[in-house]
Amino acid sequence: MVITLDMSSIASDATMRRALTSLSTTVAKSKRVVVVTGAGISCSSGIPDFRSSDGLYAFVKAKYPDVVMKGRDLFDAALFRDPTSTALFYTFMAELKASIDLASPSPTHHFIKTLDTKGKLLRSYTQNIDGLEARVGLACTSSEDAKSPGRGNSKIKVKGIKNIQLHGDIHRVRCMLCAAETKCDAQHLQLFREGTPPDCQECKTRSEERRARSARALKIGTLRPAIVLYDESHPLGDDIGTIQTSDLKRKPDLLIIMGTSLKVHGLRKLVKEFTRVVHEHKSESGKVIFVNKTPPATEWDSIFDYYVSGDTDTWVSKVLEDWKKSRPQDWEIQKTLFAGGATEQKLMVVKRSATTGTKAKLHKNNNSNAENIPPSPLPFAGESLPTPPVSPSKRKSNNDPVECSPSKKRGGVLRPTVPASERGALFTIKKTVSVTELVSKMDKPILRTSSKEELDDVF
Ligand SMILES: [Zn+2]
Repeated sequence: MVITLDMSSIASDATMRRALTSLSTTVAKSKRVVVVTGAGISCSSGIPDFRSSDGLYAFVKAKYPDVVMKGRDLFDAALFRDPTSTALFYTFMAELKASIDLASPSPTHHFIKTLDTKGKLLRSYTQNIDGLEARVGLACTSSEDAKSPGRGNSKIKVKGIKNIQLHGDIHRVRCMLCAAETKCDAQHLQLFREGTPPDCQECKTRSEERRARSARALKIGTLRPAIVLYDESHPLGDDIGTIQTSDLKRKPDLLIIMGTSLKVHGLRKLVKEFTRVVHEHKSESGKVIFVNKTPPATEWDSIFDYYVSGDTDTWVSKVLEDWKKSRPQDWEIQKTLFAGGATEQKLMVVKRSATTGTKAKLHKNNNSNAENIPPSPLPFAGESLPTPPVSPSKRKSNNDPVECSPSKKRGGVLRPTVPASERGALFTIKKTVSVTELVSKMDKPILRTSSKEELDDVF
């Protein structure tokens, strides 16, 4: 049975308001959230509704008056069978990319990033090809950093990717022959606009190398936008399957579906699989929330717990507002982080994050009010610090001139070796954590204060 909560009656209906506040608390308390999104979350970003008959589609139709194509046909792999529809597709995609380049991430994109920053986002799965998740700082399947350097079966580094682009990315191009992928640059875009696909540089280079050896030249492939059309399989399908299996095993405790009508078969399957593991949680978490302007079909009655009727941006604003009120400690840390900007401030955040949350017992000797007292400044990195005790596993990253290799010692200042008896006290003696070590951890998400595993990530 789906409970419907209407965002539009929030001002006049106190019961509705309370129910929505309670739902916000569920989000705030969750630990491993899976988010599934569709075109609805990019509406307020200025992305045109490219499937409707006006706007971009009409513009392209005017350019190709003799071609009869419906909006859906523009996303069907069958279009490559005909040179004219292929040219129209390229022109359309060039115009679409140009519009997307002018768009900005919506509050909903920022909300997904906030879930990540707070250590709650297990994964975001999106149908969108606009790449706006990358713009808010979420590592995406198509990002350059995600490419797997090895020659194994995996094409991407599965670890660290937060946003799965189920339908590809319009900011990338892929060779139709050798499948090499690269960023879509201004030159590519100009050729697409004219309806002509650019040649693949990888194919060209390989062919030239062969000709230099007096071997036969190779065929050169052409580039197309690296998006996934209907009736096409995703080039990263195996890797995405691996990620999804791993996410299911980690038993997410909340599933949020936003801005999609769930018409694509693969996505429906994904939502149902995640729902199964989310509902295995017997606590107050373990909920499935659907946020969309259009209500879900009846087949979802036994799947969704809540249907929030309305705009996703409005709902996420309400969630954030309630979350800040109900769990101010989650936000106090972030204020410190952004207010400071300097490394020393960030160091204090790391220390404070260790004193809040469920690991507070590690500091039982500390004053219980300590977390409400503004942190005293740490010395600057250049000033002398007490010698830190360093666990053996951390010595490498610590660059300790005593412990590290001879090459690293050059230019370093020698410090005495720490007696073994003084090691292993990272959490109990405040001033024994080295600046170097803490700084080396700053690259990792540090605002995870709610569980042991999260603290273990930091230290
Ligand atoms: Zn190629």
